[in-house]
Amino acid sequence: MFRRREEYAEPYRIKVVEMIRPIDRPTREKLIRDAGYNVFALPSDSVYIDLLTDSGTAAMSDYQWSGMMMGDESYAGSKNYFHFRDAVKDVMGYEHVVPTHQGRGAEHILMNVFVKPGDRVLGNMHFDTTEGHILLKGAEPVNCLADAGYKVGVEADFKGNFDLELLETEIRKDRDKVPFVLVTVTCNNNGGQPVSMQNIRGVRSVADKYGLPVFFDAARFAENAYFIKQLEPGYEDKPIGDIAREMFSYGDGCTMSAKKDALVNIGGFVAFRNIEHYRQAIQWQIPFEGFVTYGGLAGRDLEAMARGLHEVLNEDYLEDRIGQVRYLGGLLIKSGIPIVRPTGGHGIYINAKALLPHIPRNEFPAQALTVELFIEGGIRGVELGGCAFGHKHPQTGEDLWPELELVRLAIPRRVYTDRHMAMVARALRAVKERASSIKGLKLTYEAPVLRHFTARFERVE
Ligand SMILES: *Cc1c(COP(=O)(O)O)cnc(C)c1O
Repeated sequence: MFRRREEYAEPYRIKVVEMIRPIDRPTREKLIRDAGYNVFALPSDSVYIDLLTDSGTAAMSDYQWSGMMMGDESYAGSKNYFHFRDAVKDVMGYEHVVPTHQGRGAEHILMNVFVKPGDRVLGNMHFDTTEGHILLKGAEPVNCLADAGYKVGVEADFKGNFDLELLETEIRKDRDKVPFVLVTVTCNNNGGQPVSMQNIRGVRSVADKYGLPVFFDAARFAENAYFIKQLEPGYEDKPIGDIAREMFSYGDGCTMSAKKDALVNIGGFVAFRNIEHYRQAIQWQIPFEGFVTYGGLAGRDLEAMARGLHEVLNEDYLEDRIGQVRYLGGLLIKSGIPIVRPTGGHGIYINAKALLPHIPRNEFPAQALTVELFIEGGIRGVELGGCAFGHKHPQTGEDLWPELELVRLAIPRRVYTDRHMAMVARALRAVKERASSIKGLKLTYEAPVLRHFTARFERVE
């Protein structure tokens, strides 16, 4: 029976704790300066509440940990591999699965099987590592997100949806250059926004018209299924597992970062319906990830993944998890902090352009906000704006800026309590009060691909 989060307490009790404590502000100021004003370069024990990512940061359950004790670490044919393969088949409906060390290992394999230089990979909105892999193949990532998805202030359901007309227009430019369509559920980069079942069906029918395969980036498939249940007519009484299987029924396979909705600390996979795709994929798996039955993971990791894939479909868990994001969002909205609305599945996305309107794009307002939040409260978020997605035009060298300039506060699964969330809201209020005195940042080092991970900055004085 469905229960709102407000009607009960956490659907788990805590068996193991890790002590954390805030360090003093002058030390934080020194550390962030030494880190080149990039939170990726901070030692994590200097962080009090770590909302850098929800990736690989989940607390595993007693059921998953007990599975870890049953690891069969055989190079070939581990029993845990068969449990894992069966879980993927049950939950997603795909017969052929290739385990990988994490999601990007899966992306690497998918891109190598399907993508050639000069291709154009179409998606609702590609995640940053996905975009990186497409660029590394000499291909072009193309986002076909519906307009509402870019409008941070506009409340709408299913802001992860494709603009199906745009998708078709992009395919018709040169169908032979499109290897497949990628549906990212939920859509991470614009706020963990869901894609509706109706839109997924629409993508399938456009793809069918041109004979193209459809793949899912399934990192947050259970969260997406939960939103469908909450928001889409006809799904309110369906079990989450059935909704997830229906979503996947419209695809030819998926890549998965198991560090998200398989509730594990490491792992991933790429899965296929078609055995020919699988056969091509293992050509890339074996040299880069490992033999077909372990793919860069230990047997124990495969077991934890198998168990997590089932566990994540628990409705009390999903309501508690997505409800906690909603709770933090509510505190911020009350304080007048501009955030992407409605709140999505896995985190809060703050509109840095609106909070720091005096900082120009080329001085990275979202990066500056990330830095201030660490200095203020020892809280680590991440920039998803001009640093993560901006780049120079390959011919003219002109700066190209993404539409959105966001700071993401990703909430790890089953890790922090609502009191931690209240602390985050307090720190953000304090940053907001001194917003007009916050200075921008100047980029002093950037890598050619995925520059935000290693970029360095100086303060603009
Ligand atoms: C995290 C993520 C990936 C990459 O997975 P890793 O496990 O970090 O390598 C790909 N797509 C989406 C949507 C993600 O959130």
